[in-house]
Amino acid sequence: MNTRMLIDGTLVKGAGLLDVINPATGKSFAQAERADETQLEDAVAAAKAAQPAWAGLGYEQRGALLAKLADALDAIKDDLTRLLTSEQGKPLPQAMGEVMGGIYQLRHFAARRIEPQVLREDEATRIVEHRTPLGVVAAVTPWNFPFLMITQKIGPALITGNTVVAKPAPTTPLCALAIAGAAADILPAGVLNVIVDDNDLGGKLTGHPDIAKVTFTGSTDTGRKVSAAGADTLKRITLELGGNDAAIVLDDVSPAEVAPKLFGGATVNAGQVCLAVKRVYAPSAIYDELCEELARLANEAVVDDGDKQGTQIGPIQNRMQFEKLLGYLESAQADGTVIAGGKPLDREGYFIAPTIVRDIADDAPLVREEQFGPILPVLRYDDIDDAIARANDSEYGLGGTVWAGDVERGAQVAMKVDSGTVWVNKHLDIGFDIPFGGSKQSGIGREGGDEGLHAFTQPHIVNIALA
Ligand code: NAD
Repeated sequence: MNTRMLIDGTLVKGAGLLDVINPATGKSFAQAERADETQLEDAVAAAKAAQPAWAGLGYEQRGALLAKLADALDAIKDDLTRLLTSEQGKPLPQAMGEVMGGIYQLRHFAARRIEPQVLREDEATRIVEHRTPLGVVAAVTPWNFPFLMITQKIGPALITGNTVVAKPAPTTPLCALAIAGAAADILPAGVLNVIVDDNDLGGKLTGHPDIAKVTFTGSTDTGRKVSAAGADTLKRITLELGGNDAAIVLDDVSPAEVAPKLFGGATVNAGQVCLAVKRVYAPSAIYDELCEELARLANEAVVDDGDKQGTQIGPIQNRMQFEKLLGYLESAQADGTVIAGGKPLDREGYFIAPTIVRDIADDAPLVREEQFGPILPVLRYDDIDDAIARANDSEYGLGGTVWAGDVERGAQVAMKVDSGTVWVNKHLDIGFDIPFGGSKQSGIGREGGDEGLHAFTQPHIVNIALA
């Protein structure tokens, strides 16, 4: 698989190399080419030079090239799946789901069009809204979905006529470089540029004067920096940031039926999902039984290398996140009662035993902060309005779930949860045609849906006197 960066249509070596660690072993298994500031400048300049001609191609030709890229990735999907598991850690079936989702996403955006809208037409006037591209887009992504996050950004940016400089997270550069390898033979030079850094070029890229828009997914702390970096040149910015999603369980559900759904939602991708279940609120009437069911599932879960058949939960993606989680395990022991897990696995790699914590206070760090790992606090409530207020008492507002026997009652509770998406009796049902994003400090703007696509364009109003 390609390990070179894509700048101005050429796969290039970098100023340096970056070791890529397999989190299941903690050892380097590949090296990626890494950029310096000069190569960042080259990438932005190439994207700027390529943009007018790319926009000039129009939707049909751009869509055809994006579909061709999707086909090229489809042809190597098995290799991409293994690569994704090696660099990110998730079990192979989840990796295959991510790769197929990313390819489907490119096909979805390849087929999207924004038609001009006649806003007003009478004898004297015709006013038409065209949506024009913004220019060069910087796409900055995190390490939890290294394939899907890239396609999620380049698909809508490119179909609408922008060019892109993409920068993956330093611990997972290989999927982005694999996409670059496929794109090098398909897209015109400069349309897509992919550079790699060691956490040192994100600020330069997102603050660069020739970048018109930043589409960023990552932590809320870095999102603030991206926002500040864009202020000087008033960039358009979409921020998909952290979450601390609450699952609110109502008193008319069966604990045995709902527990596997909660556990799955908290531990998919080892809990490293912005929309993972990060805290559970359960009524006193079923609290003990639900805790017991969750603890049983945690004790039975198969935690192992993602490329082993039968693995449910893989390693934590990187050492820094693994060490952060060790801190949350300490806090869980101090602030609550650990009823399953509670420690790292005694083996190489970055593995944490899935952990269930009960009787923990609302102000414990594990409850207030985004843990981003398989450690789940379960909180008790007696009054549903109190549970909703506690769920909403957070700087975050990305997602959330409500679990109800009476679906209409569940929908009423969902209306009161202050988050961008709230699911009732399901989880992680995300469609590219549905706007997705956060309220409060979980983000600004939306991806997906018409809103997400329009965010890569600006209105261009043509107002004509007919008489
Ligand atoms: P992070 O913020 O540390 O890094 C994200 C990206 O930003 C990386 O590519 C990094 O190199 C880059 N970066 C670092 N410093 C920068 C700077 N000053 N300016 C610009 N870019 C910079 O996030 P992470 O640890 O890689 O990812 C985990 C976080 O991402 C979690 O908080 C998670 O909730 C969030 N996330 C959100 C969504 C969403 O859609 N809302 C999806 C996935 C992950």
